[in-house]
Amino acid sequence: MSKIVVVGANHAGTACIKTMLSTYGDANEIVVFDQNSNISFLGCGMALWIGEQIAGPEGLFYSDKEQLESMGAKVYMESPVQHIDYDAKTVTALVDGKEHVESYDKLIFATGSQPILPPIKGAEFKPGSYEFESTLENLQFVKLYQNSADVIERLENKDIKRVAVVGAGYIGVELAEAFQRKGKEVVLIDVVDTCLAGYYDKDLTDMMAKNMEDNGIQLAFGQTVKEVAGNGKVEKIITDKAEYDVDMVILAVGFRPNTAFAGDNIERFRNGAFLVNKHQETSIPGVYAIGDCATIYDNATRETGYIALASNAVRTGIVAAHNACGTDLEGIGVQGSNGISIYGLHMVSTGLTLEKATRNGFNAAVTEYTDNQKPEFIEHGNFPVTIKIVYDKDSRRILGAQMVAREDISMGIHMFSLAIQEGVTIEKLALTDIFFLPHFNKPYNYITMAALGAKD
Ligand SMILES: Cc1cc2nc3c(=O)[nH]c(=O)nc-3n(C[C@H](O)[C@H](O)[C@H](O)COP(=O)(O)OP(=O)(O)OC[C@H]3O[C@@H](n4cnc5c(N)ncnc54)[C@H](O)[C@@H]3O)c2cc1C
Repeated sequence: MSKIVVVGANHAGTACIKTMLSTYGDANEIVVFDQNSNISFLGCGMALWIGEQIAGPEGLFYSDKEQLESMGAKVYMESPVQHIDYDAKTVTALVDGKEHVESYDKLIFATGSQPILPPIKGAEFKPGSYEFESTLENLQFVKLYQNSADVIERLENKDIKRVAVVGAGYIGVELAEAFQRKGKEVVLIDVVDTCLAGYYDKDLTDMMAKNMEDNGIQLAFGQTVKEVAGNGKVEKIITDKAEYDVDMVILAVGFRPNTAFAGDNIERFRNGAFLVNKHQETSIPGVYAIGDCATIYDNATRETGYIALASNAVRTGIVAAHNACGTDLEGIGVQGSNGISIYGLHMVSTGLTLEKATRNGFNAAVTEYTDNQKPEFIEHGNFPVTIKIVYDKDSRRILGAQMVAREDISMGIHMFSLAIQEGVTIEKLALTDIFFLPHFNKPYNYITMAALGAKD
């Protein structure tokens, strides 16, 4: 029997622990440490909860200590792991305020990520807090359930009228919508001149930007935040171009892997993530890393990368579980597939944008097509869809795809995810068997048409 210690039990950790226990039963002893008081909070529900699009946070959890223990694990909550001795094979955690040393045969890090604290005057974490609290009142970081609950409680204060959201990635954009739905005036600030720049090319991000402006959100793109000012609490946010009087500031500029606690023994990626192979194993044999704290193989670039998503956390957790329990299993990599829905404008993408592909050295081109989903004689439930497919002009390999519509077209992007994973060419896609039925689509559907349009 092996003793497997898991550090961190959120999405990656929970998937890993459950896989080990449900597949291998009591073949191993599983001991878990998590520094938080809850596990499995779906951060994606934060904006829906703030914007009152769901009744409350209850459905945003899918596991807890009791469930993992009923499956056979020993779980220590509110117990941060502070030190690892890789030679003696022990971890030292703080349990009930006292040092607790646990030995291991295999070790799995699932310690996730932390909000990035940009160099902004007035923005700092409260020392010693595990909950990403700020020293300035109403300056909020967004990561944990506690952060969402705190923001929601503060929003009940009628004096909070204007909110600045810093960072127009998918979290910032979702939160901007949520605050506006909650009746607040919102300014969305980003150093880049658009939103969602990592996932969509400019013409599509402009569509989303207009959608937000049409719904009353003030956009302050192309501005660098210099300072959050206030006497004890937020009063103003100052950028290199303007000043905004605001009562709350949300800092959502991204996440960095949480690996500092683990010492310098393990090889790291350029952003500090644990460098892992396709078995999720780090440079130390028997020590694995999963989810946001680890690198992941990117099938679009065909290189090791860093893509922090819950979907990746779950899959890497499953892969590590099998390997740690003795079954040889290679992960197949990811494409960074993602989606967003703001005021009914749905966008989904996978792989590389044209801009990213070019930046990564590909001789990339894009083909795009806009058409109705169904033949024009279908008068109800018909709507326009825009699709962009990015491909490599040399190898003809599909590198990315983006789709936008005002109805749910999300299932279409999964095919592109698989195409990138399997190295499908744009010519092969043009001949792919895509069925036709007027209830669903056109005989000359936009996927085929876009692929046929790839002339470069
Ligand atoms: C607002 C928001 C919205 C999001 N929306 C989406 C979405 O729609 N789709 C999507 O795919 N992803 C989304 N994400 C990203 C997703 O939440 C993360 O990718 C995911 O949480 C990563 O899971 P993880 O288990 O690797 O890490 P984390 O969720 O960061 O969990 C790490 C765990 O480790 C514990 N821990 C850390 N250090 C220690 C230590 N030293 N000792 C003990 N325990 C420790 C922590 O308490 C935590 O429980 C969103 C994130 C946020 C914040």
